[in-house]
Formats: sequence, structure tokens, C-alpha cells
Amino acid sequence: MAALCRASPRFLRKSGLCRTARALSSEKHEYDLLVVGGGSGGLACAKEASQFGKKVAVLDYVDPSPKGTKWGLGGTCVNVGCIPKKLMHQAALLGRSLKDAQRYGWNVSYPVNHDWSAMSKAVQNYVKSLNWGHRVQLQDKKVKYLNLKGSFVDPHTIRGLMKGGKETLLTAENIVLATGGRPKYPTNIAGAREYGITSDDLFWLKKSPGKTLVVGASYVSLECAGFLTGLGLNATVMMRSIPLRGFDQQMATLVADHMEGHGTRFLKKCSPTKVKKAENGRLRVTWKYLDSGKEKSDEFDTVMWAVGRAPDTQTLNLEMAGVETNPVTGKIIVDARETTSVPHIYAVGDITEGRPELTPTAIAAGKLVAQRLFGQSAELMDYDNVPTTVFTPLEYGCVGLSEEEAAGRFGADHIEVYHAFYKPLEFTVAERDAAQCYIKMVCLRQQEQRILGLHFIGPNAGEVIQGFALGIKCGATYSQMAKTVGIHPTSAEEVAKLHITKRSGADPTVTGC
Ligand code: FAD
Ligand code: NDP
Repeated sequence: MAALCRASPRFLRKSGLCRTARALSSEKHEYDLLVVGGGSGGLACAKEASQFGKKVAVLDYVDPSPKGTKWGLGGTCVNVGCIPKKLMHQAALLGRSLKDAQRYGWNVSYPVNHDWSAMSKAVQNYVKSLNWGHRVQLQDKKVKYLNLKGSFVDPHTIRGLMKGGKETLLTAENIVLATGGRPKYPTNIAGAREYGITSDDLFWLKKSPGKTLVVGASYVSLECAGFLTGLGLNATVMMRSIPLRGFDQQMATLVADHMEGHGTRFLKKCSPTKVKKAENGRLRVTWKYLDSGKEKSDEFDTVMWAVGRAPDTQTLNLEMAGVETNPVTGKIIVDARETTSVPHIYAVGDITEGRPELTPTAIAAGKLVAQRLFGQSAELMDYDNVPTTVFTPLEYGCVGLSEEEAAGRFGADHIEVYHAFYKPLEFTVAERDAAQCYIKMVCLRQQEQRILGLHFIGPNAGEVIQGFALGIKCGATYSQMAKTVGIHPTSAEEVAKLHITKRSGADPTVTGC
């Protein structure tokens, strides 16, 4: 401890923190567990640990976005991620349903207008109720909640910084880091930070974003552009390479095709070069076509960067504790037990290297750390076959390997791909286009044909995939799937009915019942 303080920067010694930390560390640690970051992973871990009668505290602090947006307890998912996103996706789906409703005999008088302010107020009120719910739960479980920004003083001591600059020192036997990530801004595009927003701002806008350019082509970009289009706004996706990198590319292309066919504009193989404020107050964005080098520009009301997320590790002073990160990604390196390079310091969720950036994995990993620490459990988080869904207007849910990954791992000759283009029954009377409603099941080719991956594009994809994920986790085979009786008439039953292989070249279009 003294050695660490000797080695620490001058400001620490000046501030007297080392003296205080030394005094504290010679005593018993104040907490059994200190969790830094009150989002999906951190809250789950803290609540679980409290069940074992341990003294637990969780620090959560939200730095406002560069545009000044801030929010309460609960992390990304609750405030600026899954929850507001899914609710706004639902708002867009309802707009689509209004169109369908006419075909089903409802008299809907047109034009119908969407009121962004009413939607965002309702969504924000719900999010605020979740913030409050988390605080109550922590109180009920006797977890100390501290609205402080945490950083290391030494491996057992966290300095908590209050909004006004006041500091508190906290010591703990075990520390779990769960500070998540924040959206990136491009660094080389003039006006990007000054004029652009990110998903951290979109969900908290009081007024409609209007004509919006969304830069990037992954989960965040396609989901946000999808619901903006569905709400009747003019939305453009600027994509420099492929959509949904890392996903099965046939499925990703179908998702993007559907969006393009239903009103989202795509600027492909383009990269923005500058953003300026025009005299009329709108934003003039200039971009370059990557193939020809030609430049073009257009005006937008809002520019949203969805170019990836950076782990929130910079302000943690990880070097004071000796916690190692990947120098390229900035993410914390952990082993299968979520242990960092320091044995009593753990990390879960979006700040960890090589883990999916998803709420359920952060929650499960956080709970399991608490159970291993205090509950005599040895169970590890299993990151295989994690299901996920992209909530684009036509949803895409999947679990397991993409066709490319399966072919790469086992060889194209050793996999069998069953597929079908199908029409959800609800689309028929509504006369909706089902060109991209597609299912693909990737199996091993030999013997019982174990299922390696399942991919589904269609309504309620998340609900469809969730149950099948259990089967695949349990090692389900094609023959078991084929023996599974479908529930008629649903879209999910088409999974159990898959029988055309890609190899056969036969038409995979489902006809009749
Ligand atoms: P977070 O939930 O981000 O929590 C970290 C917390 O730590 C934050 O409150 C942060 O302010 C705080 N913090 C940071 N630094 C400090 C510090 N030094 N001291 C104290 N507190 C600190 N996942 C899904 O599964 N399904 C979805 O549909 C989905 N949709 C998404 C949509 C969007 C737009 C985005 C951006 C993400 C979405 N995700 C979704 C991903 C999901 O939100 C994250 O994977 C999840 O929230 C990660 O949880 P976490 O615990 O790692 O971090
Ligand atoms: P990703 O890192 O997945 O994607 C970033 C996108 O931005 C890519 O399309 C990338 O293109 C593009 N990009 C990067 N830099 C630039 C640049 N300078 N100019 C133009 N385009 C650029 O980030 P996301 O923010 O979309 O998602 C982060 C994570 O959040 C996801 O991995 C996911 O786990 C989670 N999430 C989950 C959701 C869900 O479960 N439904 C929803 C939303 C997020 P390229 O491919 O060429 O690099």
C-alpha cells in the first residue's frame, strides 16, 4: 500500500488521499463488495451479493452526453438503450398496424399524425419509473447506493467523486467493475461533435429530430433509422461497408433491403467528411463515395452518429490498481471467472473484452460473479449460443452460428442449411409485402444434424427465437426439430416445418398451410 502511494502521481500525495487510504486499508475493509457502475451488470451483481448477507455498495454516476443529456440510475439499457429503443420501435409498429387495420375493416381517418413529444414524454416517464424502481430495490436489499463517480486509489480503495467535487474514499474486499460504454464520435470529421448527436440524446429529445442522417450500419443505426422511418420521419442510413457486421450476411442484407423498400434511404459505400451549420439553421453534411471519391452533400435537421461504442474505462484510474486492458479496444481483460489481472477485482458487461454487448449477458455474468464470491458456486457464464434480436421494422432474431461461421468452422461440405421464405398470416389480409420474411437453420450435415444456428426474419422475432434458443442450448438436432409439432397458424411453426435444403436448389417459398 505504502509502496503504491509512493509510486502514485503527485496529485494523490498532495491531496492527502494516500494518507487516508493507508489508514483505511490497515483496518478491515468497509465493504465486502463494491460495484462500480449501476447498469445491467452492476445492479444485478450488487443485488445478488446482498442476498448472501454481505455488505455491498454500488456507485453509479452518469456523465452528461456532449449535448448535455443526462439520466438516472440503471445504466444504458434502461435509460438510453433497450427500453426506450423498444418502446419507440413499438410506436413505429403501431403506425404500421394502423395501415393494416383499414384492411381489417377499421375506419381510420387519414392522415394520421404522430406526435413525437407525446411519445417521448410517455417513454421518458416510464424510464424514470424504472430509475426509481432500481433505487427502491437497492434500498429493500440493503445495498448502499452512492451517486458517485468511482476511480481507483489503490487495489482495494475507490475514490468516489460527487457532482460538486467532494470526494469520499471507500474500501472493499472485492470490487466489480461494470461501467459499460458510451457512444463514440468520429474524431476526423469537422463538425461531428459540435453538431451531431448520438443514441444517448435521441431518446431524450423533446422535439422530433426531423429529417435525420444516421451514420453507421449496425444494431444501433438500423434500429434507430428503422423506427424513425416508421414514425413517418425522413431517415437516411450512411453505410461505409456492410450492414450488421458479425451477423449472417444473407440475413443482414435482407434486413437492410426491407428497410430500403419501406422508406429508409441508404447511402452506400459512403463516408461523411464534414458537417456544417447552414444559414437556414439546418445541418449540411458532405460525404464521399468510397469507390469514386466523388463528393455530395445534403441538408438534415439531425445527424446521429452510430459508429460504435467505447468502454467507459478511461476515468477509472485502472493503473492504480494494476487492472489490465486491451490497448486497442480499451476493454478490460478478464478470464472465464470474469477476474481481471488483479485477483479480487472483477469486470462484467460492456467494458469486458470479447463479451457480447447485451443486457442479459451482463446481468447473468454479474449474478454469477456474486454467487461464486459468496454463494459457494463454481458456475461460470456460458457465452455460447447467446440469442439476440435486431429490432428493425422487420425484426431479425438469431442464435448460434451464422452460415459463414459454420462453413468456416466445419467446412461448407459438412453443414446443411434448411431455409424458407414464408408469409406471416397477418400479412395476407393486410396485403403486406413479405419478400424478406425468411428463416434459415444451419445444421451439421452428418448423423442427427445438430443445429448450429437459427436465423429468423419476421414479426416478433425476439419472441420466436427465445424458446428455440433453449432447444439449441440443449443440443437440439434437425430431426428433433422436424418432429416438433408446430402451433398453427404462427410464423414460428415455419421453423419446425423447414425441409428444403439450400444444397438442393429447390424453391424455398412456403405455399399453403
Ligand atoms: P451499463 O448498463 O452501460 O451501465 C454502466 C453504468 O456505469 C452507467 O450508469 C454509467 O453511467 C456508470 N458509470 C460509468 N463510469 C462510472 C464510474 N466511474 N463510476 C460510477 N459509475 C460509472 N442490449 C440488449 O440486450 N437488447 C437490446 O435491445 C439492446 N438495445 C440497445 C440499444 C441501444 C441504443 C444501445 C446503446 C444498447 C443496447 N443494448 C441492448 C446493449 C445494452 O444496453 C448493454 O449491453 C448493457 O446496458 C450493458 O450493461 P453494463 O452493465 O455493462 O453497462
Ligand atoms: P457496432 O460497433 O456494432 O457498429 C458500428 C457501426 O458503425 C458499423 O456499421 C461500422 O461500420 C460503423 N462505423 C464505425 N466507424 C465509422 C465511421 N468512422 N464512419 C462511418 N461508419 C462507421 O456498434 P453499435 O453502436 O451499433 O452497437 C454496439 C453494441 O450495442 C452492439 O454490438 C450490440 O451488442 C449492442 N446493441 C444491442 C442491441 C440489441 O440487442 N437489439 C441494439 C443496439 C445495440 P464497419 O462495419 O464498416 O466497421
